[in-house]
Amino acid sequence: MRSWMRWPALVCLSLLLWTVAAESTHNHASQTESTSCTICLAAHTASPAPTSTPTTPVFAAIGVAHEEAVVAKARLDSSDLGIRGPPVL
Ligand SMILES: [Zn+2]
Repeated sequence: MRSWMRWPALVCLSLLLWTVAAESTHNHASQTESTSCTICLAAHTASPAPTSTPTTPVFAAIGVAHEEAVVAKARLDSSDLGIRGPPVL
């Protein structure tokens, strides 16, 4: 990696690490301060809550499969093989 690309990458990485450390270690003296803190609001609203209830499955027959015999009609002539047919007596 070139040196001019390395320094901005290190600066961005250090900013990210400082931000993570500041967000995870901050605390509030009172409960009222935490209700107006945007970091705490984002942390508590990001957790998903289940919104659906499982339902029982419905089993119903929608049709019956019928088998049909498939017979290919083969046609094979001696001329298809490129050989001469048997002699006719
Ligand atoms: Zn907070």
